[in-house]
Amino acid sequence: MPATNELIDLRSDTVTRPSAAMRAAIAAAPVGDDQYGEDPSINALQERVAALLGKEAALWFPSGTMANQVALRALTRPGDDVVVSQESHAVWHEAGASAANAGVQFTPIGARGTFTEAEFRAVVKPRGHMLFPPTTLVEIENTHNRAGGVVFPQHEAERICAAAKELGIASVLDGARLWNAAVATQRSPAELARPFELVAVALSKGLGGPGGSLLAGTRATMVARVRYRRLDGGAMRQAGLFGAAGLFALEHHLARLGDDHANARLIGQALAASQRFELDLATVQTNIVVFRVLPGRADAATVAARAKERGVLLFPLGATALRLVTHLDVTREQCERAAAVLVEAS
Ligand SMILES: *Cc1c(COP(=O)(O)O)cnc(C)c1O
Repeated sequence: MPATNELIDLRSDTVTRPSAAMRAAIAAAPVGDDQYGEDPSINALQERVAALLGKEAALWFPSGTMANQVALRALTRPGDDVVVSQESHAVWHEAGASAANAGVQFTPIGARGTFTEAEFRAVVKPRGHMLFPPTTLVEIENTHNRAGGVVFPQHEAERICAAAKELGIASVLDGARLWNAAVATQRSPAELARPFELVAVALSKGLGGPGGSLLAGTRATMVARVRYRRLDGGAMRQAGLFGAAGLFALEHHLARLGDDHANARLIGQALAASQRFELDLATVQTNIVVFRVLPGRADAATVAARAKERGVLLFPLGATALRLVTHLDVTREQCERAAAVLVEAS
């Protein structure tokens, strides 16, 4: 296997390492005790993200999973029903946290990462019923990870959130990759966030920060968010070291996300043209490519193992599906090489 520094790591956009310039920003960061609200870098980041999302206030969290968990705590009660998309992060990638922490159950609906207002209305369970768990929250994931980075149609998100409001149901946007959705659709993050009560965004994915997510919403929900962050063990002190990295990432790495989308498209087109994989190019909208091996050829784990021997890392998503993610630490040339390696590995 090639040396570590020659690997083309397409396992996730979380594998990026802080650049020298980002490290300089971290080193120069003014910091304070964030639990006293005295970390200037975190305060600046929270204000910047709240403004970008068009919300009153944003709160910093060590991870996106914790931001999502606090959103659930703030907006639901144990035994409630939460409507989500099929294969959502909340259901697959949070280790059962929603059941363990908030005590809610999920109703996954729709297909390929999206669902419609009609599908939402069809599964809503009313409050006050002697048998039904009350539906108190709807969560939309944009972009949708396991569906291949697809963008949730905004007109449908607006209709779903309007229906939720009418029915007294809260709404959350899991926007860990909302920045990618904004760049791909040329809509502002604030426009994408507008229909939702709470919005979670990550700095540690495509933006290339070493960690941190924010949960934005009204000032009125802030008290509950601060309390549950502490309750979940996520209240930190001089978190401004992360905050400065986040500010740097928003300044320098947001507009360039289009490069990652172009690189994902390049790989997707090469895989589709090879006719060695099943891949719907319409799903390659941002920086994620989910594709399947064809029947009778090497399975997903074998393709990933063969690619690794040639220096290309990616994850199998199951027996037949694989996922790769482009990011700021892989160049266009590396993506061209990765596509060639994958075709040979099939
Ligand atoms: C990564 C991610 C999160 C949060 O993950 P952490 O690793 O806990 O920061 C939440 N939702 C989606 C869709 C994600 O991709």
